[in-house]
Amino acid sequence: MKAAVLYELNQPVVVDDIDMEGPKKGEVLVRVAATGVCHSCYHAVTGKISYPLPVVLGDEGAGIVEEVGEGVTLVKPGDHVILSWVPSCGYCIYCTQGYSNLCLKARQSERGSLFDGTTRYKKNGKTIHHYAWVASFAEYTVIPQESAIPIDKEIPLDKAALVGCSVTTGFCAATNTAQVRPGSSVVVFGTGGIGLNAIQGAAVAGAEKVIAVDLLDAKLEMARQLGATHTINASNLDPIPEIQSLTDGLGADYAIEAIGVNVTYEQAIRAIRPRGKAIWIGVPDREPLSLEPGILGGEKMVMTSTYGSARPRDDMPRLLALYRAGVLRLDELISRTYQLEEINEAFEDLLNGEVARGVIQF
Ligand SMILES: [Zn+2]
Ligand SMILES: [Zn+2]
Repeated sequence: MKAAVLYELNQPVVVDDIDMEGPKKGEVLVRVAATGVCHSCYHAVTGKISYPLPVVLGDEGAGIVEEVGEGVTLVKPGDHVILSWVPSCGYCIYCTQGYSNLCLKARQSERGSLFDGTTRYKKNGKTIHHYAWVASFAEYTVIPQESAIPIDKEIPLDKAALVGCSVTTGFCAATNTAQVRPGSSVVVFGTGGIGLNAIQGAAVAGAEKVIAVDLLDAKLEMARQLGATHTINASNLDPIPEIQSLTDGLGADYAIEAIGVNVTYEQAIRAIRPRGKAIWIGVPDREPLSLEPGILGGEKMVMTSTYGSARPRDDMPRLLALYRAGVLRLDELISRTYQLEEINEAFEDLLNGEVARGVIQF
């Protein structure tokens, strides 16, 4: 089976022919139809997100169930599914409280393996790991049934794939984590795959002002198309005074950081008003963050966001319903499609900010 494997940090990903076992108890074999090229996979390449190697990358996929293992009840062969990178168990303390994005069973499992602690991939007898449960940079993947979210068969699978990571993470960071209220003001730092969807989420939630901050004019233009009412190119200026002048001098109700660098973590706090919420989504730097504590004064709140605080089995089908209703834009997000063999080129385009989303189609 053809898969894109990361063998060594900071080296090109290798499209390799690897061996795959079928699904075991509670697992599902999915033929991957499409997979988005997500920045978090690139973080695995650089080691910013640390994973056991070698690993089949890919965390944003959709496909068709080919085969199910013993005891699988949630899907059947032929079902179209989004691959969720949190296989929410449904009965742990977080799942029962409605925070299935933080499922304890999933978090306590061994990184890079399935629930039984083993993997389904090998090359020359050597174990290859699964990235983020999903491992969608491959023709086929074996996932826990809890990661298979059934969807309507009429939804094109390349669009559905995006809902597997960036759309849900960004959109729901605005609607679920921040709980953006109608008529409010929202600043989004970073207009990549996550940030653009946070902008969509804020706009759909009824924010009056959605202010996008980035360093590239082309990305800010894209942000406008997806619902930003104002844009700030912060290459040569401090965005905070601009944000304040757009928000009655007080700062925004919400700021969403979708980059993962200390400068913008701090700017997100400076951008909000007293009682405002700063949401950090970006994968954090390993560098310590030094803050003057007073900038949190006035009961400002900071919260991180995992998978947009989404309940995948509930939120993903609803996001697709919004797509079908013409409210959520997915077609516009796909700026380029690639073959699996072009994965390293797709990463380069991502790093250069040349694509809203690159999608690999099988
Ligand atoms: Zn992702
Ligand atoms: Zn759980």
